[in-house]
Amino acid sequence: MEMIAKQCLHCAKKLAGRTDKKFCNHYCRSSYHNVLYGNRSNYMRRVNGLLLRNRKILSEFFALHQSDTLVPLSELYIKGFSLGHYTHQQRKAKNQLYTYCYEYGYMVTGKNCVKIVLQFNT
Ligand SMILES: [Zn+2]
Repeated sequence: MEMIAKQCLHCAKKLAGRTDKKFCNHYCRSSYHNVLYGNRSNYMRRVNGLLLRNRKILSEFFALHQSDTLVPLSELYIKGFSLGHYTHQQRKAKNQLYTYCYEYGYMVTGKNCVKIVLQFNT
């Protein structure tokens, strides 16, 4: 038999009823999870926003130039590109590291320019 009276994890009110209950109601349950995970969700939302913006910028340059034209990194920056946010990387040769935001990627070449590519399968 449990010695300590069960309390709601959010408001600490005494709980009656089922012994596996952790919250007094739906409101307490979601408030508790908001406190626990709210910041993480905001962080994820921000990172996802940056990734999607990067993808959009890469796709626009790709549509304009295809992969045969080098684009200065500064042009990406002007559009709000964030170099530190990407989904994955792929090394195709010793000096060819492709960095992707979803299916669009780039490889930095020469003097602060990038070659933009489209990946068809993951
Ligand atoms: Zn409660």
